[in-house]
Amino acid sequence: MIGTVFDIQHFSMDDGDGIRTVVFLKGCPLKCIWCHNPEGLKKEKQLFFSSTLCTDCGKCTKSNCDCHKILYGKHLLERKNCIDCGECVKYCRSNALRIVGKEMSVQEVLFEVCKDKAYYKDDGGITLSGGEPMYQADFAIELLKASKQAGLNTCMETCGMCSSQDILKAAEYTDMFYFDIKHTDSQTHKALTGSDNTLILKNLELLSEAGKNIVLRVPVIPNKNDSQENMINIALLCEKLKGVNKIHLLPYHTIGIDKYSSVGLLTEFAEKTGDIKERCKYLASIMQNKTSKPIKVIV
Ligand code: SF4
Ligand code: SF4
Repeated sequence: MIGTVFDIQHFSMDDGDGIRTVVFLKGCPLKCIWCHNPEGLKKEKQLFFSSTLCTDCGKCTKSNCDCHKILYGKHLLERKNCIDCGECVKYCRSNALRIVGKEMSVQEVLFEVCKDKAYYKDDGGITLSGGEPMYQADFAIELLKASKQAGLNTCMETCGMCSSQDILKAAEYTDMFYFDIKHTDSQTHKALTGSDNTLILKNLELLSEAGKNIVLRVPVIPNKNDSQENMINIALLCEKLKGVNKIHLLPYHTIGIDKYSSVGLLTEFAEKTGDIKERCKYLASIMQNKTSKPIKVIV
């Protein structure tokens, strides 16, 4: 079984319990306007160009395509004919060019992850992230299964936008879900992410009914989903879910904005953050006071 992985991050402390090794799978069904991992949106491998690292040396113009040019001493990448073949990467000594996305087998990923096994102690392990891990559902399920067979604790960060059958299958091998909730109003959800939230909420309920360990995660985006009304609705949603009592608020940041142009995408989204962390703390206190069931809201 082969999947497309765009990063494996070691020693993460924010992606599940304990020390985690995070495997980022490429491809996502949503298009959140604030996405800070634009290189994870497309499932296929793609050329990544860093203008910051480029020295305008012109060596890449030797590749067999007409995408690279030097104009008035400056490097210019014309992507319209680029087929993401990666041929030009070998000419670039400055690491300004690279291919994002590597095809790897389940065993290759597991071999890389297991290098960290000695550090996991009681609670650490592997976390699948993305993109959306369930966008490569068969690979994700096989990787989770193999991880359990290797004795690892497993966590999945998901937007929940996937087949219910697949996520329940994945749940058989997943110890914990970090489940994203962006907006409780379906039409606003569609405007912000490109899809309504019907299937997402259904999958969340199914996992909760199955008794899975779930933490809700809310990216808090100024002027988009940070209204008191939305946050209270998320707290009330949590209140209704069996066994779910923890919400993480993730303050919006602009890290990643530069990566849009690096993979040939445009973004007009760069909301001013203000003191977003303080706002999150304020919202957390409101959320905790609105439910009869004790819930913990962490910023
Ligand atoms: S990835 Fe291939 S097609 Fe694209 S610029 Fe490089 S050599 Fe040309
Ligand atoms: S080879 Fe690399 S550093 Fe040189 S011009 Fe091309 S992209 Fe820039």
